[in-house]
Amino acid sequence: MGPKVLVIEDEETMAEGLAYNLGKEGFEVSVARDGEDGIHQARERRPDLVLLDLMLPRVSGLDVCRALRQESNVAVIMLTARTSQVDKVVGLELGADDYLTKPFSLRELIARIRAVMRRASGAGVRHLGLFECRGLTMDFYARLVKVRGRTVELPPKEYDLLYTLATQRGRTLSREDLIRAVWSEGTGVDPRTVDVHVRGLRERIEEDPAHPEFIRTVRGVGYRFDDEEMAQSSRGDARATASGEAASSLRVGRAAADP
Ligand code: CA
Repeated sequence: MGPKVLVIEDEETMAEGLAYNLGKEGFEVSVARDGEDGIHQARERRPDLVLLDLMLPRVSGLDVCRALRQESNVAVIMLTARTSQVDKVVGLELGADDYLTKPFSLRELIARIRAVMRRASGAGVRHLGLFECRGLTMDFYARLVKVRGRTVELPPKEYDLLYTLATQRGRTLSREDLIRAVWSEGTGVDPRTVDVHVRGLRERIEEDPAHPEFIRTVRGVGYRFDDEEMAQSSRGDARATASGEAASSLRVGRAAADP
C-alpha cells in the first residue's frame, strides 16, 4: 500500500478531486470534512502526510496544524486561498512543511508531496497517536501508557483524563472542561469526581503524588499537564504553585495566531 495521505478539506468537490487523483497516483487517501474530524482521523489513521485546508468550519486549519504539531512531526502541506498571506506565515511558523495556493495543478501538488515526504523520512517519523513527554509515553492507538519505560495500567476514566490533559498540554482545564471531555453523560457529574480521579491517576503515574510533575493543580481553576517549557521553569522555582498567570501567558501565541 502507498503512503497514507489525510485530506482535511470542507469543500466537497475539492476533497473528492484530491482523493480521486491522489488515489490514482498510488496514495492511500482518507478525507475529513472539518478540523475536529481531521484531528480525530489523524490520530486513528496515522497518515504519512496531511493536506490541510486553512479555511475550515469549527476548528480552523491553523488550530488543526497546532494540534497536529503538539503530538507528531507528520508532514503537513497547507492549502491556502490566494489572499491569505498572513495565514501562510503563521502556518509555517506553526510547523507546516509547505503550502500551496489554490488553485494548483495536480502535478505541482504531487511534486510538493514527494518533496515533503522525502524530507520527512530523513527526520525520523514521530507518529501521530504517539505522545512522549518527560518520560511519559502514550500510544493512543493501543491505549497504552508507559512511565519511564514501565507500562502503567489505567482505569478507563483515568486514561481519558490523562489523554485530555496531555493532548492539550500547556493549557489549564477546568473541572467542567474535564467533565465534558471525559464523562459522556456530562451534566450531573460532581466536580469533586474529577479530583478523585486525578488523585488515582497521580498515584499511578507520578513518582511522588504529593509533588506531581505531570498533572499540576491550578488553584481555584483545575488542572494542567505542563509542556516542556513550563516544566523547566517550574523546576527552577521549586514547585511554585502553578499560577493563572502562567496559563494566560501561554495563550498569547494562540491569540496572535487567531484571525
Ligand atoms: Ca475550505
